[in-house]
Amino acid sequence: MVATDTHFAQHLSTQRVPAGKREAILADPGFGNYFTDHTAIIDFSADTSNVGNWHDARVEPYGPIALDPAAGVLHYGQEIFEGMKAYRHDDGSIWTFRADANAARLNRSAIRLALPQLPEELFLESLRQLVSVDQDWVPTRDGDSLYLRPFMIATEAFLGVRPAREVSFRVIASPAGNYFGGEVKPVDIWVSRTYARAGRGGTGAAKAGGNYASSLVAQMEAEAHGCKQVLFLDQFNHNAVEELGGMNVFFVFRDGSMVTPALSGTILEGITRASVIQLGRDRGLHVTERTITLDEWRDGIASGEITEVFACGTAAVITPIGQLRDGDELIGAAGAPAGEVTMSIRSQLLGIQAGLLEDTHGWLTRL
Ligand code: PMP
Repeated sequence: MVATDTHFAQHLSTQRVPAGKREAILADPGFGNYFTDHTAIIDFSADTSNVGNWHDARVEPYGPIALDPAAGVLHYGQEIFEGMKAYRHDDGSIWTFRADANAARLNRSAIRLALPQLPEELFLESLRQLVSVDQDWVPTRDGDSLYLRPFMIATEAFLGVRPAREVSFRVIASPAGNYFGGEVKPVDIWVSRTYARAGRGGTGAAKAGGNYASSLVAQMEAEAHGCKQVLFLDQFNHNAVEELGGMNVFFVFRDGSMVTPALSGTILEGITRASVIQLGRDRGLHVTERTITLDEWRDGIASGEITEVFACGTAAVITPIGQLRDGDELIGAAGAPAGEVTMSIRSQLLGIQAGLLEDTHGWLTRL
């Protein structure tokens, strides 16, 4: 039996961060640096046949988690998470974008990592509870937002390798500005030839912490070569583009079509990706999800067939890709300006999220 009682107990802090300090943080939040005053929590307990329920939903002051040193998450990485944002509209109301899709993806990740599924209404209510007590943390500045990080961890103290019977779901929040800092400008990308992000039958399509742990060394390699992000290739077809460490990729062609790598089970099903496909189609662009290779990328840029390449994700929204570095080979021009289609879809997406453009697809939910 899965409980869907959405009552949250509230144990509130008296301003962990004083108002003056919060204002200073909101003036320049960066990304992922600061955390709000509270956290929402729901615990799960199962019996030996893995039948269990969610209980003790509550909002608590933000702070360290007391975990048994034998907790499953610390040893076997049984963890999943989500990433989404809360946006403040001009009338002061606070909204989130496609939260139902995040709830569904969390549950797909839960199935893959043998964690319990969380009913969508509990997921949404946990966001509502947290954002309502920490609403002063939702930035008002254009383009800024409150990044929400729901996550689920195996808390049971047990060193045998099996799904934990004690699990905790939590939400923390962090005010967010531009992910790459400063103005939107094309980022350079490094092609990882040494490391794969995911393999067939693996966890690539799940938002699981281990995927990110294994991407770090590739990201370090990218940075050592002066690039901001790493591009991962298909494990078997080393010429096929998959995705960046934390973003999906799109190609804009001269004939007005757009292409993004198909969901192969090894890439994350980005919610921004799905939204960009829809917005592209809404404006009459022919959008296809298919295999696209580095050869096509290189030749397309050289011939002018590919006019723009961009990355997309919740944190970075839409970011133009400048030059691709594949070992010593460079694809694309350094310092090329951001593309027109890229910037137009970017401002449309931001406009919908900010409540400045009509939400024709019903993507916004009021928190
Ligand atoms: N790929 C990866 C590996 C990611 O971590 C993310 C960020 N969640 C994305 C793509 C983009 O997904 P979304 O648009 O849902 O943020």
